[in-house]
Amino acid sequence: MATAMPTEKSGKVVIRNIGLLLSGDIDRPVLDADTLVVSDGLIVAVGKEADCDIAQAQTVIDARRTCVAPGLIDSHVHPVFGDWTPRQNQTGWIDSTMNGGVTTMISAGEVHLPGRPKDIVGLKALAITAQRAFDNFRPGGVKVLAGAPIIEKGMVEQDFKDLADAGVTLLGEVGLGSVKAGYEAAQMVRWARKYGIQSTIHTGGPSIPGSGLIDKDVVLEADADVIGHINGGHTALSEAHVCELCEKSSRAIEIVHNGNEKVAIAAAQAALALKCPHRVILGTDGPAGSGVQPLGMLRMVALLSSLGGIPPELVFCFATGNTARLRNLNCGLIEVGRAADFVFMDKAQHSAGRDILDSIALGDIPGVGMVMIDGIVRCGRSRNTPPATEIPVVLGAAH
Ligand SMILES: [Zn+2]
Repeated sequence: MATAMPTEKSGKVVIRNIGLLLSGDIDRPVLDADTLVVSDGLIVAVGKEADCDIAQAQTVIDARRTCVAPGLIDSHVHPVFGDWTPRQNQTGWIDSTMNGGVTTMISAGEVHLPGRPKDIVGLKALAITAQRAFDNFRPGGVKVLAGAPIIEKGMVEQDFKDLADAGVTLLGEVGLGSVKAGYEAAQMVRWARKYGIQSTIHTGGPSIPGSGLIDKDVVLEADADVIGHINGGHTALSEAHVCELCEKSSRAIEIVHNGNEKVAIAAAQAALALKCPHRVILGTDGPAGSGVQPLGMLRMVALLSSLGGIPPELVFCFATGNTARLRNLNCGLIEVGRAADFVFMDKAQHSAGRDILDSIALGDIPGVGMVMIDGIVRCGRSRNTPPATEIPVVLGAAH
């Protein structure tokens, strides 16, 4: 299994001959540039080749006029340990998802752990252990931000301080534990926020037996930082209530693959109508009852672009830069100083589309030709997407 310790360094990497550079920035989704320069995992230049210092690179990549975008960020996953999920008893699901262009995943709680502790000291210990384990181990090189405790009744402010002091930065989905009332959730969300811990709330009907309903009034009262799977996980609230959430809350609008697809489109369109497209972020909510979806993020991009009628270059921002900004991540945008996490894509072979963006607007998913994380190539032609028409080539060291 290809696994990197976070200490591995890329040296200088030059990516030239980029055909289309997607920025991840919703205010300017396409960049007028054909070259990226990376030094030890960080972007140091973005521009035209003639304007960049491309000398003495350790690695040169000819993008062969393909599309480069920030690596996709899955805002909502449920990892457990390593590259194993007990949900459908599969191994290798994170590496497989990296082959779908995902370079960062954010845990919404390690809820699938068999025998998951629900007492307060136990749930804190699990969160700290998960945070440490994924910080030390990146399946397929993917950055898994984990250690997201499921809050339970009886937690006090000191518990949130303890978690933050121990390095926990996320809460698992509020509502999956015993805290289901709006006022109670709101108090704990405030404590979490006070100590720099970001919160997500479950929205909609129960996901699996044992989970519960969280309606729009509870979501509004709890005021978590992320309206988790606003399109349900899988059972959605009514479209009217989803639109009301978009309008009355100012928090992130998270849309997931393992949710209601019709309401996914309604939520994204509501955000655009309300002129707050920067609030929309995408996830899979996998692994789930319907399995693991290595291409779930790309499928969401194709769904919202084709059936939702939203330009694909904007939808890619929902899957990259919006999430990075709302979650304070140093990836997801093509900007100097950001992590060199990229997905190289092209129109899938034999797509009816004219080019990659047109093919996505027609409902096809693109072919992934390479994935890079922290400047290190993690896969070439994806084993999971339809084959890309053209793929980048590693030229080796330049002189
Ligand atoms: Zn949920």
